[in-house]
Amino acid sequence: MTTLLDEIKAIIADRGPITVEQYVQLALAHPELGYYMNRDPFGAAGDFTTAPEISQMFGELVGLWAAEVWSSMGSPRPARLVELGPGRGTLMSDALRAARIAPPFREALDVWLMETSPTLAAIQHDLLLDCGAPVAWAQRLKDIPEGPAIVIGNEFLDALPVRQFVRVGGQWRERTVGLSEEGELAFGVASSAEPYISATAQNGEILEVNPAGHRLMFELGARLVKHGGAALLVDYGHTVTSFGDTLQAVRAHRYVDPLAAPGDCDLTTHVDFAAMARSARATGAVVYGPIDQGDFLRAIGIDLRTKALAERAGPERSEALQQARNRLVGKAKGEMGALFKAIAVADRRLPPPPGFQPNAAKTA
Ligand code: SAH
Repeated sequence: MTTLLDEIKAIIADRGPITVEQYVQLALAHPELGYYMNRDPFGAAGDFTTAPEISQMFGELVGLWAAEVWSSMGSPRPARLVELGPGRGTLMSDALRAARIAPPFREALDVWLMETSPTLAAIQHDLLLDCGAPVAWAQRLKDIPEGPAIVIGNEFLDALPVRQFVRVGGQWRERTVGLSEEGELAFGVASSAEPYISATAQNGEILEVNPAGHRLMFELGARLVKHGGAALLVDYGHTVTSFGDTLQAVRAHRYVDPLAAPGDCDLTTHVDFAAMARSARATGAVVYGPIDQGDFLRAIGIDLRTKALAERAGPERSEALQQARNRLVGKAKGEMGALFKAIAVADRRLPPPPGFQPNAAKTA
């Protein structure tokens, strides 16, 4: 059987080096052999674990967050609850269960999942079969009907392919993937420069740009401004634009060489929240944060939730709940509380969404 590695090598042998963006796009989203297309990568037996897979509390709190945002929007009916890149569907399932305490909200919901992977869409379908709300799937935001919307996305932006530029001889050149003399995949740089990039840096620095992320923030911001609503995006990344190669590959919970096994490992990059926020603001939407995931979850009640669930559980489960809470909120090495950030994009007529402080006048 041809592997994706063979296929990418053949493409390069035929047409010459491809950009890093094209490489990541093929590795993740090749229709048959792309990483997300044919597998369930999550959990202990998979390649990596995400916050909703660590604890039901994550999705539950996001569900209550959405219910509160909905009331602040004036309780529109119908209201679209959209999730970008829902993985196994765990977050949405937990969110809808928690939203049972707000029946008018649940009854108003029209759930949309934006997902490119048929394998994951099938898993989401099975999990959400009895969720009590109408659920539909779309591959692009523009295919989701217009109207007031609450949009959520966990570890979505990091999965979008970035372009990388390398500073060489005082100019930026696009980073490419080509073939070494031995016929293996190898990073390189394009022969022509990209003179329109105004940033300057020392030779050897790498600049990352996420075109798909920018397009999404533009579309999302424009939609929220026009139809009302708010979005919550949680991911790992940096609050200030900086240089550096953040492309990483993970397989079976370990870092591996990003060029070694395309299609068989997850490829991600750190999200440049400052850059994403600039694109969303350009549409007239308001951006709150980024704030640390730990601070966000505490502000929306993870400690109360942990306590309430622990009181109803036996000692072992109670200990597991506490550990999950610490992993999501803690800021030590190996914990997610500071590494992950939350950002909200909202219609400016709404108050700051739960968990976020009002912006200083300058940026509001
Ligand atoms: N939110 C989930 C999964 C994160 S992994 C969780 O927290 O567990 C990234 C998800 O985004 C996967 O479901 C993947 O198939 C999906 N995805 C990646 N690129 C996409 C794109 N361009 N459009 C829609 N979904 C995409």
